Amino acid sequence: MKYFNEEKLPLLNFISNIFIIFLLMISIGYILIIKEYNDFKIKSKNIENEFKEEYRKRLKTEVDRVVDYINYYKSQTEYRLKNEIKNRVYQANDIATYIYNKYKNLEDSKKIKSRIKDALLPIRWRNGYSYLWIVDTNGTAVLFPINPNIENQNIIDYKDANGRYILKEAKNIVLNQNEGYITKIFVTPPNKKELFEQIAFVKLFKPFNWIIGTGETLNDIEKDIKQEILKRVYYMRFNKEGYFGVIDFEGNILCHPFIKRGTNILKTDNKKYKKIGEKLIEIGKQGGFLTYDFRKLTSNKIAKKLTYTKSIKDWGWIVYAGIYLDDLQKKILDKQKELEKELNEKIKILLFIFGSFSLLALLLSLAFSNKLNAIFENYRKKIEYRTKRLEKLNEELKEKEKQAQAASKAKTIFISNISHDIRTPLNAILGYAQILNKDVNLDEIQKEKINKILKHGNYLLELLDDIIEISKIETGKIGINEENFDLKKFLENIKEMYEDKAKSKGLKWDVIGIPKKETFVKGDKKKLFRVLINLLSNAFKYTDSGEIKLIITPKENNVYEFSIIDTGIGIEKEEQKNIFEIFTQAKSGQERGGKGLGLSIAYKYIKLMGGELKLESEPRKGSKFYFEIKLKPSIEKKQEIKKSEENYKKQNIENISNKFTIEKKLKEKIINLAKMGNITNLKKEITNIENQNLKNRLFEYINSFDLENLILFLNSIKEK
Ligand code: ADP
Repeated sequence: MKYFNEEKLPLLNFISNIFIIFLLMISIGYILIIKEYNDFKIKSKNIENEFKEEYRKRLKTEVDRVVDYINYYKSQTEYRLKNEIKNRVYQANDIATYIYNKYKNLEDSKKIKSRIKDALLPIRWRNGYSYLWIVDTNGTAVLFPINPNIENQNIIDYKDANGRYILKEAKNIVLNQNEGYITKIFVTPPNKKELFEQIAFVKLFKPFNWIIGTGETLNDIEKDIKQEILKRVYYMRFNKEGYFGVIDFEGNILCHPFIKRGTNILKTDNKKYKKIGEKLIEIGKQGGFLTYDFRKLTSNKIAKKLTYTKSIKDWGWIVYAGIYLDDLQKKILDKQKELEKELNEKIKILLFIFGSFSLLALLLSLAFSNKLNAIFENYRKKIEYRTKRLEKLNEELKEKEKQAQAASKAKTIFISNISHDIRTPLNAILGYAQILNKDVNLDEIQKEKINKILKHGNYLLELLDDIIEISKIETGKIGINEENFDLKKFLENIKEMYEDKAKSKGLKWDVIGIPKKETFVKGDKKKLFRVLINLLSNAFKYTDSGEIKLIITPKENNVYEFSIIDTGIGIEKEEQKNIFEIFTQAKSGQERGGKGLGLSIAYKYIKLMGGELKLESEPRKGSKFYFEIKLKPSIEKKQEIKKSEENYKKQNIENISNKFTIEKKLKEKIINLAKMGNITNLKKEITNIENQNLKNRLFEYINSFDLENLILFLNSIKEK
C-alpha cells in the first residue's frame, strides 16, 4: 500500500517542520520553566533562613548597641570620678604647699602643720560625704575629718573588707611614684550591711612626708548611673514592637516595659515563665540566643519570640531584646507570595514568547511549504513532460534501430550474394588461367602475367570466402558444432604446425599448458582451431624477433583460458579500440598486407563459443590476445571416441583416397603448408591442382579448417 505519494510531500514537510518546531519550543520552554521553578523553590526556602539571619543580626546589633552604651556610660563616669578625686588631692597639695612655703621660715613645722590641717579640714563635697584625709608615711593619722579620734594614732595596719592593707599600698605608691590610684577598695560603712566599693587617689606631700588622699564610694555614683541607664533603656525601642529588658543574675527585673521593676522572675507560680526566666539567666550569663513563647507588647497575644542576651558582668546584669517570630512568618509568606507572583509573571512571559515564536515559525513554515509546493509542482510537470518526450524518443530510436538492423542484414545478405555471384566466374577465370599457365607455348613474360592473374585472383577468392564466412555468422547461418576431441593431441598438433615457421623467422615458439595425459573434451574443435590459427598467424606475421607463446590455463568449471602472446610490434592504444571490427587494420596491417578480417572472424567465433576475445598490447613491446571458453569433459568413453574418430577417418579417407593420385612434390608442399596453418598459400597451391574433384575435396577440408584430416587424407593418396 502506498501511504505517501509525491503530492503529499510538501504537506509532509510542513507537518514535520511544525512538529520539530513544537518539540523544540516545548523542550526549551519546559527547561526554562523548570529552571525558574527550581530557582523559586530555592529562593523561597532561603527566605526563611535569610530572614532569621537578618533578625539575629539585628537583635545582636541592637543589644550590643545598648550594652556598648552602658559600658561607655559606665567608663565615662569612672573616668570623671577619677579625675575629680585627683583634682581634689592636687588642690589640697597646692594649698598645703602654699602655706608651707609662706610660713616655713617664720614658724615651726608644728604650727605650719596645724595651719595646713585647718585649711584642708573644711573642704567637703558631695553633700559632705567626701573629704580629704592625711596620713604620714609611717602610718600615723594626721587628718580625718569624719573621725578625729584616730588622729595621731598609727593606722598603718588598716585593712579593707577583703583584708587588703590599703595604707601600706598607699605608702608604696607615693614612695615609688609620688602619686597614684588605689582601686576596688571594699568597705562596709557603719550602720550599713552591704559592701561599698571605693576608689582613692594618694599623693606625697614631701615637706612633712604626708600622704594626702581622698576616696569616693562608687556605689552611690553607680546607683545613680544605673538608674540613669535603666531609665533610658526603658524607653529604647527598635522595629515596631522591639524592646529591651534588663535583669540581674538573681532574676530581679531591673527594666521591662510591662513587668514591674523588682519582680523576681524566678519567684513566680507560673511554671512556664519560671522556666523561661531560668533559661534567660543561664544563657544570659554567657550571652547568646534563645527562643520561647511570650506575650506581645501591644496585645495580649502569645507568640514565639527570638531573644538575644548579653551580660554586664561587673554589675551582674543581663540585657536582652527579642523579636516576635509571628511577624517573621507573615513576612516570609508575603515574600514567598511575591516570589510566586514573580514566577507566574516569568512563566507567562516565557509562554508568550514561545507562543509567538511558534506562531511565527508556523507561518514561515506554511509560506515555505507553499513555495515548496509550487516548486515541486513545477518540477513534477517538467519531469512529466520530459518523461513523455523520452518515451517518444525511445520509441523513435527503437524504430530506427529496427530499420538499421534490417538495412544491415539486407546489406550483409546483399554482400554475401554478390560474393557468391563473383566467386563462380572468378573460379572460371582462375581455372582458365591455370590451363593457360600450363601451356608450353607461352613465353616467360606471358607466364609472369598469368601468374599475376592467378595470385590476385586467389587473393580475391580468399577475401570472398572470408566475407561469405562473416556474413554467414552475422545472418546466424553458422552455429556451434560440438565434437569430442583430445585437447592434448589438438594442442600438440598446433605446436608442431608452427615449428618450421618459428625456425625460419628465428623466433622462440612454445605451447604452454598442454595436458600431460590424453584429455577428451567436447567443443567446437574446428572453430577453436580457426581462432587459434588466425591469432597465431597474426602473431607470427607481426613479430620479427623474440618469442611467441600459446598458454592454456584451466580454470574453474571446465573453463580454459587461451592466451596468444608475442613480442612483436604491438598495437597503438587508439587503434586497439575497434580492432575487432570488420576491415579494421592497424597501420602495421596495412603495411604488411592483410584483409582486416582475421580478428573479426576470431572475435565472432569466440563469441559463438560463449567467450570474449580481449587484447592487451603495447607498441614496440608486443601483444596478448586472450579469451576464455568452456570445454566440457567428454562423457563418452575415450576408447570409443578414438575408435569412432579413426573409423571416420578410415572410411572417409580410405574410401575416397583410393580414387585420387597426386605428385609427390606437390603433396609434400601442401602437407607442409597445412602443418604451418598457412591457409593463404595452401589455397594457392590447391587451386593449381587440375583434378577438380580432388581440388574440391581439399577445399572442403580447408574451409572447415580440418587441416589435421587434410594431412591424413593427403598421406593416404597414392603418389604419381
Ligand atoms: P589482417 O589480415 O590485416 O592481419 P586481422 O583482422 O587479422 O587482419 O588484423 C587486423 C589488424 O590488427 C592487423 O591489420 C594488424 O594491424 C593488427 N594485428 C593483428 N594481430 C596483431 C599482432 N599480433 N601484432 C600486431 N598487430 C596485430
